[in-house]
Parts: sequence; structure tokens; C-alpha cells
Amino acid sequence: MGTIERCKVVVIGTGAGGAPAAARLAETWGEGVVLLEAGPHMHASDFTQVEREMMPRLYAGSGTQATEDGSIALLQASCVGGTTVVNDALCLRPPPELEERWRALGAELSLSALAPYVAKVEQELGVEQIPRSMINRANYLVGLGAARLGWKGERMHHNAPGCPECGLRHLGCAYDSKRSMNLSYVPRAVKAGARLKPMTRAELLVPRAGGWRVQCGELEIEAEHVVLAAGVVQTPMLLLRSGIPAGQGLQMHLQTLAWGDFAEPVDGFNGIPMAYGVLEFSDVYGNTGPGFMIEGVSTQALSFSVQPQAQGALHEEILRRYRYLAGAVMLLRSTTRGSVQLGPGGRPRIEFELQARDYEQILNFYQRAVEMFMAADAGRVLLSHRETHFVTQPPTDLRLGPGWTYLYTAHPFGGACRGGPTVDGVGRVRGQRNLWVLDASAFPEAPGVNPQIIICSLALEGAERLLAGAE
Ligand SMILES: Cc1cc2nc3c(=O)[nH]c(=O)nc-3n(C[C@H](O)[C@H](O)[C@H](O)COP(=O)(O)OP(=O)(O)OC[C@H]3O[C@@H](n4cnc5c(N)ncnc54)[C@H](O)[C@@H]3O)c2cc1C
Repeated sequence: MGTIERCKVVVIGTGAGGAPAAARLAETWGEGVVLLEAGPHMHASDFTQVEREMMPRLYAGSGTQATEDGSIALLQASCVGGTTVVNDALCLRPPPELEERWRALGAELSLSALAPYVAKVEQELGVEQIPRSMINRANYLVGLGAARLGWKGERMHHNAPGCPECGLRHLGCAYDSKRSMNLSYVPRAVKAGARLKPMTRAELLVPRAGGWRVQCGELEIEAEHVVLAAGVVQTPMLLLRSGIPAGQGLQMHLQTLAWGDFAEPVDGFNGIPMAYGVLEFSDVYGNTGPGFMIEGVSTQALSFSVQPQAQGALHEEILRRYRYLAGAVMLLRSTTRGSVQLGPGGRPRIEFELQARDYEQILNFYQRAVEMFMAADAGRVLLSHRETHFVTQPPTDLRLGPGWTYLYTAHPFGGACRGGPTVDGVGRVRGQRNLWVLDASAFPEAPGVNPQIIICSLALEGAERLLAGAE
């Protein structure tokens, strides 16, 4: 016989969507809020700063989650605080272009109405511009190359005031300095009375008179309202398991890498990993480029070792240059639309077949990255491509297609898009009572910038709407 708990609202997932929503709901409903998290509750002392130990413990699928054909890795975390625990702490405001783009897709969005929530989130997370003194050499070189070419760019903002610059944000902050959800909105929710349940996976949603039954193994939770914030793969999966159509409109910021190879050591594994952003090729904040940002990125031993797509003697040569490489990552607002489906054995089947335009922009990124690093006086530039590695000129005849380049995304979106077949313009699941989606899976279109501030703000606004409509 299982246990039954009753509450006003269940929030499923403790990441950038779930944690702020739970905190706001708990301000009104206190212990009437149950906050479920499939992963463990980890603390600063658990973050050993060793990649081979932390990646399997923190990341969904032990870090191996990928599209069905294996060509694009999908990075998400599974622990209290969600992916914000492993993120790079960059904080970007919602671009003004979002309003028109999202509205055209059926989402209700008013950036002026959202502005107070953005301000609250920035205050709660301690957002500040990364001080000049904290820009490491790798990010400095990205900025130098961009400046010499006259490209627009800036020192970015982060939510890690007092960061000790250990360089390991992607493994959980061992110093409690990054104000990820586990250190900000989750404790806020708990302080207001919310019942936090780590290691508790919502398996099924069953409608019942007056609300929902959420099945989590032996535990059943009866609630009037449910907020889904299990992330882009698991929110659609939970809907699908519960017989609710979902999973369409999967999108990504598509990411690949290039590294300038410099004569002097760069030691890009030290310091704040991502601190400088090149906006010249983006299509937000008034820019009219093809839709990608270039951001400085760190070179951490284990992750870096798989990125250049080389083997044998060449791989060894590349690893010997490790200390001399400065990295840059592309963040392309991909135009491809994929899907998340229920696969064999209940596992997610993630389909994402890149469109020709995305390949064109990957080539465009490699060309611009070569120009940028050569302008910063690199001797040559390394591309994460299976065939072409070190170059001194922008490549023109690069082979592109699944498996030729190292591709990943740390920013998936969609699967339960606002204004789409699954949810309405503000995030309510169509045809269902009191069921909301308030995470990145409700994004109707990729925003073109690092998304955590947008996700948190929309979640706060969504929680307010839920409260306003609740009896
Ligand atoms: C390496 C990396 C670096 C990044 N850097 C940045 C950055 O610098 N700036 C930025 O803005 N964004 C960054 N991001 C992205 C950002 O962190 C995510 O977009 C954001 O956290 C997504 O929020 P979410 O609420 O949709 O999902 P998540 O934050 O992923 O939270 C979902 C949570 O739900 C839990 N869950 C899943 N299924 C269930 C279930 N059935 N029952 C209960 N719980 C469940 C998961 O375990 C997870 O903890 C980065 C991401 C990665 C991977």
C-alpha cells in the first residue's frame, strides 16, 4: 500500500522554471506546495570538481543524452536546482524581438508586463556585469579579435557575485557563490513552507475530481493544480506517458566550437569560463545578423578531449596544445524543428534533423571564428570537425552533415510550445483543467540568447496567473 499526500499544487521539477514558480506559489499557499525533483539534493561539499565523477552524477543520462542518430548531444542536469546547477551563470535579458516573434506563433507575451519579473529575478539571483578584472585570458582573446574586426560584443552579466573563479561552473558550484536555483528560489520556496521531495520522479498524471493525482512510485500526490517544469525532454515525456499529446516543436541553440592556438599559454580552464559575448552575428537586441552569438568558452580536460573530433597522433598533438588554446562557442538559433517521442522501453526518442540553413550557419561560424582568432594573433585555429582540424584561413569547402562536426546543445526548447497544439498562449495545457507548463519546453521559439533569466521570469509570471485564476 502506497502513501497518499494531499496539497494545493504540485510543481514537478526544480530548475529555472519550477523553482521560481514554487517560490511564488508558496508565498500564498505555504505548505500547500509540493516540489518534486527526480534527482538528488546536492550541496557544495558534494561537488568534487572532478569531471569524471560529477558529469555522471549531475547530468541527465549520465551526460550521454543525445538525439536518436547520436549527432547532437543534449546537456541537461538532474538534481535539485535542475540545469542551473551546472550552467555557466550567464544572465541575458529577454530580447525585444521576442515579443513579436512569439506572438506570431500564438504565444501571449508582453515584455513590458514581464519587466517587473525580470527585475525581481535579477535581484534574487544577484546579477551583475562580470568585472573586467575577472575576464580570463581566453575570453579576453575572443574580445580582442572581435574588437580588432570592429564586431559588436560585450562583457556579459552573471549570477555569481563573489565568484572564486575556479573555472568549474559546469560541475556545480563548490563555493556556494553561483546563485543557481538550489541556492536561491528552492530555499525560498522551502522557507515559505513548500515540501521539497528530491529523488521523487513524477511518473504519471491522472485527472481526478477537483484536480490531479500525480503518481511517483509508491507515493501518490493529490493536488488541485499541477505545474510541469521537468525540462524540455521530460515535460513532454510526462505528458505523453499520461496520454496527453506533446513533444512537437523541439528546438535548440545549436552549439559547436573553435579554438585559437596561441604562442603563449592561455590556460582557458582557469577563471570564469564564459564571460565575453560577440553579438555581431546575432539577430536580437537590434542586430540583424544570421542568428548566432559567439561566446568565449572554457577548455576543461574531459569535455575538451572529445570535442575536436580527432584520434591517434593528431588527438595527442591537439591535447599537447591544451594550455595554448582559447575556445569560442557558437550559439545558433537553429531553424530546425524536431520532436520528443516515447521510445522503446519508455525512453525518450529525440529526433532533430538539421536543415540546410543550419549547416550554412555552422560553416559561417567556423569562418568567423577563424577570422576572429587570427585577428587576435593566434598562430592557427582548431575546428571541431572530423576532417579539418588546424587552419589559418577561413574554410570554404568543409564537409558538413550528421557526424562531421561536434554538435551539442545546452539550450533545448519546446515540446509543449505556448500557442501550439499542447499548451495555450500562456502555458495552460489545452483541454485539461489546472495543468500548466512553466519551463523551457513552453518556449514557442528559441530566444537567441542564454535563456535562464527568461525562463525564471516567465515562471514567476505564470505562477501569478495561476494564483489569479485559482478558486
Ligand atoms: C552546461 C550548461 C551551461 C548553461 N549555461 C547557461 C548560462 O550560462 N546561462 C543561461 O541562461 N542558461 C544556461 N544554460 C541553460 C539553462 O540552465 C537551462 O535552459 C534552464 O535551466 C532550463 O530550465 P528548465 O526549468 O526548463 O529545466 P531544468 O533546469 O533542466 O530543470 C528540470 C528539472 O526537472 C527534473 N525532472 C525531470 N523529470 C522529472 C520528473 N518526472 N519528476 C520530477 N522531476 C523531474 C530534472 O531532474 C531537473 O532537475 C546552460 C545549460 C547547460 C547544460
